[in-house]
Amino acid sequence: MKKEMKQWGLLAVSVLAAGMVHAKTQVEPAIALQLLETQNQQLERKIVKVADNVYTAVGFHGANTSMIVGDDGVIIIDTLKGPGSAAKALQAFRAYSDKPVKAIIYTHSHGDHIGGASAFAVNAKPDIYATAGFGSAEGGINKDVNPVKGKRNVRQFGRKLPPEQQTNRGVAPAGTDDTDGGDGFLPPTILVSEDGYKVEIAGVELEFYLSPGETDDALFVWMPNEKVLFAGDNFYSSFPNLYAIRGTAYRDVLDWSDSVAKMATFNPQVLVPGHTMPILDPAIAETALQNYSEAIRSVYDQTVKGINAGKGPDQIAHEVELPAHLKDQPYLIEFYGTVPHAVRAIYAGLLGWYDGNPTTLNPLEPKLKAQKMADLAGGTQQLTDQMNAALKNGDYQWALELSDQVKWLDDGDRQLARQTKIAALRALAAREYNAPNRNYYLSYANELESGQLSEVWF
Ligand SMILES: [Zn+2]
Repeated sequence: MKKEMKQWGLLAVSVLAAGMVHAKTQVEPAIALQLLETQNQQLERKIVKVADNVYTAVGFHGANTSMIVGDDGVIIIDTLKGPGSAAKALQAFRAYSDKPVKAIIYTHSHGDHIGGASAFAVNAKPDIYATAGFGSAEGGINKDVNPVKGKRNVRQFGRKLPPEQQTNRGVAPAGTDDTDGGDGFLPPTILVSEDGYKVEIAGVELEFYLSPGETDDALFVWMPNEKVLFAGDNFYSSFPNLYAIRGTAYRDVLDWSDSVAKMATFNPQVLVPGHTMPILDPAIAETALQNYSEAIRSVYDQTVKGINAGKGPDQIAHEVELPAHLKDQPYLIEFYGTVPHAVRAIYAGLLGWYDGNPTTLNPLEPKLKAQKMADLAGGTQQLTDQMNAALKNGDYQWALELSDQVKWLDDGDRQLARQTKIAALRALAAREYNAPNRNYYLSYANELESGQLSEVWF
């Protein structure tokens, strides 16, 4: 672990050294790849023995699944996304125990944790534990927009990227087999509503604690004798995805911070995250939880301070930073969530879309604004020249923004604007180590190139 930390330290320095570009997760292309490659070490397929009789399978799909071996049976915590990958994890677990599966515990209702349960229930009838609110995270308030969420999900995770464009998904490996996603879901049979619910299964003492955060229906599992804590998705090695760019309803980030702080009070010897490698060093496990909670809280507090100073989300998103002592922690690097996206989510979650500036109450219709931008530049050709120059000069974000103006102009070269947008997206992707951003840039560029996107988008 120490060696790992040292390696991380060096990479973190690289991030800072290259950190003068527009977005903070943009670095030199070689460094972006090096960082993503290092994060891949968190996602490699392996069985980790986290304590006597406790094993975690990492990298068999996007999330982790764990097995606790008891007297006359085993307990499974989370089941991956589909029965195919779950069966492979179970087969690997069977090298350590062939006892029947007595119980399954769902830490929360996200599909990558519940869809493979049937593979663990072959020739067995396990009790299945979850919180009383189980399922509230799925199919909720925004299900009417599932069609577009589905498309954005594909982009965020790079599901259709060719192999040479794939890196990872932040806290999950690229290239998971999703063909049977959800097929093995089994509904919970025991719903837990009591915080600190205690149970003994196969001679193993377990405690369940309610921990709303990434989802409202989350719990964490505590083994009081072994001092192992299973965090679910409220902790993994990356700055947390307080907002997912595929589109999500507001996630209560204060709940999330509080739930992680509660975990820290248990002083775990071992911390098993919902994704990424378990942390086996007790000192790191405890401080990681404290720091994680503090990081979320700090982003929230800074955002609220900016809001109350009358600032809008664009400005606050560029100002908020993690405190210096948290910035370089390996488990807070922005591989999955990002600070600016978190700021915008908190702003919208607390105040909605309006930034308080009367200018934005009724802004110009996009096409009219584009025409006025062209007039300002001296004409459509001059605006197009500016777009070309931005791309040539490596000012990729500005090139994107100008291409989105040129595309509206009746006398604009829409084909050139499209090509410019594709090139700028790919240039940004090459420099991006936040996996959802990188995957989204690349996926969108590919869609533009193949003509899949409608005129509305281009
Ligand atoms: Zn997950």
